[in-house]
Amino acid sequence: MTESLPQRLEHARKLKERAIVKLESLLDPREIKVARRDHHARRKPRHCGITIHTGIGCSYGCVYCYIWDMGFPGKPKPYPLNSLQMAYALALNPYVVPRYTFAAYGSVTEPFLEETRDKAIDYMRTIYRYLLLPSQVSTKSLITGDLVRKLTNTDPNLSILISITGISSKARRLEPGAPDPIMRIRSASYLKGTNITPTLFIRPIIPGITDKEYENILDLASNAGIRTLVLGTLRVTSGIVKRLKLVGVEIPPKLLPRRLDNKKQQYISGSHIKKMLEHIASNKGFLVLPSACSANVYSHRSACYKCRLGPCGRPSYPSIVEVKEALSILELDNYRVVDVSPSAIRLQRTGKSTKRDEVKLFWLREVSRLDLILA
Ligand code: SF4
Repeated sequence: MTESLPQRLEHARKLKERAIVKLESLLDPREIKVARRDHHARRKPRHCGITIHTGIGCSYGCVYCYIWDMGFPGKPKPYPLNSLQMAYALALNPYVVPRYTFAAYGSVTEPFLEETRDKAIDYMRTIYRYLLLPSQVSTKSLITGDLVRKLTNTDPNLSILISITGISSKARRLEPGAPDPIMRIRSASYLKGTNITPTLFIRPIIPGITDKEYENILDLASNAGIRTLVLGTLRVTSGIVKRLKLVGVEIPPKLLPRRLDNKKQQYISGSHIKKMLEHIASNKGFLVLPSACSANVYSHRSACYKCRLGPCGRPSYPSIVEVKEALSILELDNYRVVDVSPSAIRLQRTGKSTKRDEVKLFWLREVSRLDLILA
């Protein structure tokens, strides 16, 4: 990032304005109305970015998955917006900052299911074209030569998370509809020679499975050319624990949260397993990244220090003068810069805040890729 913070802000703002005008000219009034009403037009991104739904439901039937508790069906269908509508909805979303907001495909469904694959690729291509969002997709599907060819026409530095929990027959009972996990890992070798970065995404870590099989998983990944790893602890609801039991996987009660909930997903106590895996993987030469968005940053050779898990990459930080100018561009005259450190911008409110301040401060955080602290 060689541009100054104010230049980056201006550029992002222009990109957003241009995208809205162009997409409006390509959509008919009914399509515009539907896109405006969609939740992608208003949902606030989380740390890992804005999750983009490519479909509704999933046929892989993973036993540990939380989408069943959210009421999603087992028969998938493509998300109802066409790709221009989806790009338009995101362009309208006040929190989505072109070039900076991370885009995450595949959080509530597998994006490359037969039923949703074409739509997913169409979304990825169109959204990148208009908004240049650094994109990431997580998948349990096989990476084929044909898929790679199509993906290289989306975000050229795409981050792909190859999602794995185990490779034994016991592990396969957890993912009854998904392709063979060994083949999934091996298929990442199709990405060799492209700018797309595959990351092994060991999530969820299932006690009694993942911690028994990790050596083979890591060796397979290494042979397939995967160099980066993200680990994720299992989150449970009472339904997930029950479903796991039905396929013979019992989570030791001492690892479970004190009280299970029907809907609320809670982490099990898995940090000891995670630490052990981190250690072994680092010794095997993997770069262990703290989260999915960190893999996205790595793939885009970018940097971020928006949260306590960072720094991811090597963030450079703006001068106080740049932040002052950025506040002026954002019309945040009611804030003054206290200081700027390598990890955060510290601001003080000097006047009444308005409703729109939240969005403007969000932009400052997204574009600077630093945490914001209000003194
Ligand atoms: S600092 Fe790293 S983990 Fe935190 S939001 Fe940024 S990329 Fe994600």
